[in-house]
Amino acid sequence: MLLTTILNQCYRFKGFVYVQAKFVRHLGQQAIEVRVRPRMRSRALCSGCGVRCAGYDHLPERRFEFIPLWGFPVFLVYARRRVDCAGCGIVAEEIPWAEGKHHLTKAYMLLLSRWARKLSWREVSRAYHTSWEQVYHAVEWVVQWGLEHRSLEGIKAIGVDEIQYSKGHKYLTLVYQIDAGQVRLLWTGRERTMKTFSQFFDLLGQERSLQIDFVCSDMWKPYLRVIRERCSQALHILDRFHIVAKMNDALNKVRAQVSMPTVIDVVMFRLFDGSWRLT
Ligand SMILES: [Zn+2]
Repeated sequence: MLLTTILNQCYRFKGFVYVQAKFVRHLGQQAIEVRVRPRMRSRALCSGCGVRCAGYDHLPERRFEFIPLWGFPVFLVYARRRVDCAGCGIVAEEIPWAEGKHHLTKAYMLLLSRWARKLSWREVSRAYHTSWEQVYHAVEWVVQWGLEHRSLEGIKAIGVDEIQYSKGHKYLTLVYQIDAGQVRLLWTGRERTMKTFSQFFDLLGQERSLQIDFVCSDMWKPYLRVIRERCSQALHILDRFHIVAKMNDALNKVRAQVSMPTVIDVVMFRLFDGSWRLT
C-alpha cells in the first residue's frame, strides 16, 4: 500500500493531491517527505478573505511537519501559491493543513496538545523526538483556537477560587463554570482583588452576568463584594470547607465562654472524622 493512499484515506483535502512519498535525510536521520500539489484547475483560497482567486505566482517550497510514522519524521512539502485578490491584493493562499507561520501541521499540533493534557510537556517532546518549544506552540495554538471559538452563552453556575503560586503571597483568581452538564475553567487573572475578579464580569458582559443563577465562592471579602455588585441576582453558595472553618471558630468562642465540652466535642469529632457531612 502506498503512503499517499493512506493519507488520502485519513487526511484528504479538497483541491490538493499527494503526489509522492520518499525517504530523505533530515538532521542526520531518515525522514519521509510527501509532496503535495494543487489539483488541476483548482483555484487557491485567499488567506485574507477566504475567497477563491486567480493565481499570481509560487512561493519557495516549505516543509510542514506531520505526525511521525513508525519513528520516521514525516513532512508535507508544498510550494504555496500567491493569489491576486481584488480585496486583499497579492497574498499567500490559505492551506488547510497548516496555519500562518507554524511549520507543524494542524494534525500534529492537535496530537501533541492532546498528549500534553496527560503528560508533562517535556515528556511529550521526548516521546515524539521534538522540542519542548514545539509542544508549547502546539498547546498555545489549540488554546488560542479554543478561546476564539468558545461560547460564553448559557452559563448558569460559576465558582471562583484562588490559588497561590511561587513564593510569597502571589495569587491567581480562577473562575470555573460548574453547570451540571459542563464544568470548565473559564478565566484566570492575576491577584485576588476586586479589580481582578471584576475583569471576569467585564469579559462576560452585563447581560450574561445577570443570567447566572448560582455563584460558589469562599469567604474572601473582595470576591464577596464583586459578587454582590455584579451578580446580585444569583444564589451565593459559600463552600463547605469555609463554612466548617467558620463554624469551628464560632464553636471555639463558645467553648471559651461556656464550660460545656462534651456535646461540642462530639460535634467537632464527627465533623473531623467525616461521619457527618455538610452537603
Ligand atoms: Zn482576499
